[in-house]
Amino acid sequence: MKFDRFIRKVEGVRQQTDSLYKSVHEAPQQQELLIQAVEQLSVSLEELHVAEEELLQQNEQLVEYQQEIEKERQRYQELFDFAPDGYLVTDINGKILEANQAASQLFAIDKTRILGKLLIVFVPQQARRKFREKLARLCQQTQLRDWEIGLQNSQGILFDCEISATTTNDNKANCIGIRWLLRNVSDRKQAEEKTRFVELQNLHLREAAEFKSKIIAVLSHELRTPLNAILGFSDVLLRLNKNQFTPQSVNMVETIIRNGKQLLTLINNMLDFAKLEEGKFSLNLQYFNITELFKLITDDLRFFANQKNIALNIDINIQNVKVLNDPIRIQQLLTNLICNAIKFTETGSVLVELQELNDDKIIIIVKDTGIGISEIDLNYIFQAFRQVNQTKTRRYQGTGLGLAIVKDLLNLMQGTITVESSLGEGSTFCIELPRTVISE
Ligand code: ADP
Repeated sequence: MKFDRFIRKVEGVRQQTDSLYKSVHEAPQQQELLIQAVEQLSVSLEELHVAEEELLQQNEQLVEYQQEIEKERQRYQELFDFAPDGYLVTDINGKILEANQAASQLFAIDKTRILGKLLIVFVPQQARRKFREKLARLCQQTQLRDWEIGLQNSQGILFDCEISATTTNDNKANCIGIRWLLRNVSDRKQAEEKTRFVELQNLHLREAAEFKSKIIAVLSHELRTPLNAILGFSDVLLRLNKNQFTPQSVNMVETIIRNGKQLLTLINNMLDFAKLEEGKFSLNLQYFNITELFKLITDDLRFFANQKNIALNIDINIQNVKVLNDPIRIQQLLTNLICNAIKFTETGSVLVELQELNDDKIIIIVKDTGIGISEIDLNYIFQAFRQVNQTKTRRYQGTGLGLAIVKDLLNLMQGTITVESSLGEGSTFCIELPRTVISE
């Protein structure tokens, strides 16, 4: 029942009471009229009672609604207070009327002290004009989304902030306030900045690497031609004049040839490496007998092992000897590994094994009893120009390119290489290769 209806009822009862009162006064002796009046009054009172009950019930409901609304209000207040982003409510001039905890943390100012301040005081001087313009426009636009702006906290420390805002209106659609969401995006901006920097560095590095590979390729090529001529003519010189030359002259020409060959190996390695790094290297795939090639390589290198009094043993355990690969490159990488094994071994032996893992894969193992490689150095040995433990290995010649080439070649052959080693206990290099290399 509505309150005005109740009022009307009360008014009705009052009027009835008045008219009864008048009637009784005009005819005070009439008993009958008095009884009638009392009855009417009692009916009216009854109605009034019912109306009062209804009103009470409605009142109780109203209290319940109010309690629910209060609960909701508290829930929203908590959400507002403990939201991870800063929330502000301001008037249309940007005067802060409400602020949650995140907002007071953002501006490094106590929650009570932030109220009443103008939001613009947290905008650095140089950005204030723009902020004012945005604020003025906001009331017409009703919304502002993801606006990035540099703000400063109460101690003058700058931070990057992403702002979204919506206006609140009165019932005549007049803008009466603004709700602000403020997100500190400094970390994100810094991370983006770092990523951009790293990308730029990577680009420079890639360009530098390409430039380096080009220089190596050009230089190696230019050096190889005269060097081949020097080697060829020295060889002819020695063969034609060996009997006329003094032992000292023979020795000198032989030194030219030996050093020239070393230089040629280095240049060839550099050229191969540059091509591999540039992705310009291709394999010359053909079927061949891996056992025969294996024996050929080890026979060639046995001379060096003998020179150092090291045994070079081979163990071939393979049924299907046919493989599809590039025999020259297999020879190159195996020669590299076996030469290293001999070079870094002073006493003991080098064992080269050939096995088949299954129908599709073969395994080559080069094992030595040499100086070994420390755990830390194992991480670097496949990198170009890396030679480990320089003080100890100073007496060993090399360029640090061999294993880098081996690794790149194996990549092209869809193969892998692993190494197990520890200082003073020798090393074991293990190659896994597909029996049939797929051309790319
Ligand atoms: P290098 O021309 O110096 O031999 P590599 O790339 O072939 O270059 O090898 C890189 C480094 O790895 C070598 O300088 C050496 O320190 C280490 N190394 C390679 N093979 C062996 C091995 N069998 N025993 C011990 N150290 C090795």
